[in-house]
Amino acid sequence: MECIMEKNKSYCNCTYEPCAKKFKCCECLHYHRRNNQLPACFFNKEFEKTYDRSISNFIKMISR
Ligand code: SF4
Repeated sequence: MECIMEKNKSYCNCTYEPCAKKFKCCECLHYHRRNNQLPACFFNKEFEKTYDRSISNFIKMISR
């Protein structure tokens, strides 16, 4: 299977620059799921920049 990391760049909104998983959606998703979190792409700009990837923060965002 071909890696689509280049294509993923157009979808990724994560601003956490030092992350080695950036554009590697397969690793990113598993990492955050393991930690009961969601990847950056679930959050809007305002919430993404807090780097709080918790499910409670996601619920807070969609409840506004
Ligand atoms: S969402 Fe998390 S794992 Fe994914 S690129 Fe951003 S900081 Fe890295």
